[in-house]
Amino acid sequence: MSDISHPIVKQALEALLAKEDFLPVCKGESREKAFKSMEAILSTPNQIHKAYIRMPLENGEVVRIPAFRVQHNNALGPYKGGIRFHESVNEHEVENLSFLMTLKNALHNVPYGGGKGGIVIDPRAYSERELHRLCIKYVRNFNDVLGPDKDIPAPDVGSGEREMDWMMAEYKKINHGQPYLGSFTGKSVENGGSLGRREATGKGVYFSMRYLLHDYVEQNRTTLEGSDNAFAKTTLEHAGRALKVAVQGFGNVGSVTALEAYRDKKLQNKVVAVSDRNVTLVNMDGLDIPALVEYTSKNKGDLPVTDELLKEINVEAKIESREAILTMDIDVLILAALEDQIHQDNWKDINARVIVEGANAPSTAEADDQLAKKGVVIIPDILANAGGVIVSYLEWLQGRETQFFTEEEVFQKLYEKMGHTMETILPQYYADPFALRQNAFIHAVGRLSEVLYRQGKLY
Ligand code: GLU
Repeated sequence: MSDISHPIVKQALEALLAKEDFLPVCKGESREKAFKSMEAILSTPNQIHKAYIRMPLENGEVVRIPAFRVQHNNALGPYKGGIRFHESVNEHEVENLSFLMTLKNALHNVPYGGGKGGIVIDPRAYSERELHRLCIKYVRNFNDVLGPDKDIPAPDVGSGEREMDWMMAEYKKINHGQPYLGSFTGKSVENGGSLGRREATGKGVYFSMRYLLHDYVEQNRTTLEGSDNAFAKTTLEHAGRALKVAVQGFGNVGSVTALEAYRDKKLQNKVVAVSDRNVTLVNMDGLDIPALVEYTSKNKGDLPVTDELLKEINVEAKIESREAILTMDIDVLILAALEDQIHQDNWKDINARVIVEGANAPSTAEADDQLAKKGVVIIPDILANAGGVIVSYLEWLQGRETQFFTEEEVFQKLYEKMGHTMETILPQYYADPFALRQNAFIHAVGRLSEVLYRQGKLY
């Protein structure tokens, strides 16, 4: 996974150091020093908060549940990032995810630093009352370090509007009389959330794919055709034709991305496969995504797992193993499940030439490197899945002003921001040998270094 000690962090720093215009105010020996400080700042979070939440269950048993809040860096603004509810959460993972948030926010010029939370539970195994209790206790434990100008949590895997609503209510109760609407984002619209926040990550993931394979190519075809860059060739091979798309993961991110791809009549994509923790559903003529979205919304988020269930909703599909999605013969693979899905043992079997990372860190560093060497275009996590945090920022702004945008305005602002980032980094990507991930890292680290230097923190 692209973690705090990821080799490309070092590569990004080295690439920056080699640039004439890196920290122009900082010359000679002080550049080397700045480089070292930057390396240390990126590879260690500012704070790690940890608690064992003691929770009485409805059956009378009392459990202790490990919970974390990692605050990686706040040079660009308050710490910001989701809280993951998953049985595999651990301190190291939350640390890595907080580091990715720092880079994600820096990359898209969102005025936040990076943070992340985690609770080690399988939320499906708890009742609603138990989860409510757990959310209250999480806020009580970390209240001192949270707040609209300190650290602003949001949903992540296993959490959503309901959890954010509960948490904000507890924050409001404890910090009586203080502003509270900006303390948590990803809340329900009825409770001060933003229109469009729920769909924002998936919409942004699809936008990044469409921008790279369509909008950018339309405007820059001649330059791309004149380039002998392998990534430019892969992009051109996929531009302007109907694409076979597969989406791994059918949660909040995967299902919205699949729906966007399905609805984009202009590109005439076919979503030929989707998967979740149980199955992959395949139909090479295209799946009926709206029917599957409706089914999952009524069945705890799970896709149908038998032919009978598929028949009941009139969806034609073949049922395969959940791993089958990764190695299918398709054009675009969208990874919207968990981390480390593409790794040393399966990267050779990946047939897609374009991969979009809706999840955070879905490929390991080795796999990522090997695929990039083969000219596979990978739109990295921090570039592709920033829609969530960008609309979280809009939610936070709306909460401050108590003035609310229409859904149309929200999506317009989201696409403007993501489009601007892509427009800034794609020319460089197609002109140099670095993969898009390195380019995104270089850009994010460059912005962060500049600010840290001006704040007197690089010496
Ligand atoms: N959990 C999401 C992410 O990984 C959203 C974070 C936020 O909105 O703060 O980007």
